[in-house]
Amino acid sequence: MNYIVPMLSFSSDHYIRVFIRIHKGKTGINKNFSNSGYIFWCRKCDWRKTIGMDLHEASFSCPICQSKLDYGGPLWIGPLNNFEYVEECIRILEDSEKSTIPSKKKILKILNTILLEDNFPPGYFDIHKICDMLNISVAKKTDLILESIRSLGYKAARTHIEPRAIKSNIPIERLKSLLIDFHEKNVI
Ligand SMILES: [Zn+2]
Repeated sequence: MNYIVPMLSFSSDHYIRVFIRIHKGKTGINKNFSNSGYIFWCRKCDWRKTIGMDLHEASFSCPICQSKLDYGGPLWIGPLNNFEYVEECIRILEDSEKSTIPSKKKILKILNTILLEDNFPPGYFDIHKICDMLNISVAKKTDLILESIRSLGYKAARTHIEPRAIKSNIPIERLKSLLIDFHEKNVI
């Protein structure tokens, strides 16, 4: 039986590309199963949660605003990149001639951002959409937002998928309070 290991996954322009390695073995198949599951998402307040393949443990009501949750799956909810492989791609690309790979700069930017997207929950927070949801002015200083999230003890990084979005393990309610605080203090 075969199982897969994602090496590099990215979204660029209008396509998504996934590079995988295919191996044989039982352990990997079990791992593939534990990397599959569902994402539950509240359209109204942007709360989200990832669960495994057993839908019995799922609640279909948002714990924050009690709205009915949307969900997608089964999906791949495990790691999407092998970071040693991505680093190797970066090394090879840096050593290559621009004439051989004309879009070298663009690819390097994507790969370097992917390196920072290590070990985050699936999905991302669209800061503009959340500000719209809160009816506050759009927060533009992404680096300051990332820094503030980290100072609260959470992980945060930009994502190559969407320039105005971030990846983080911060709960949505904490993120909203932070953005409201920034708005009230006129920081961003
Ligand atoms: Zn909700």
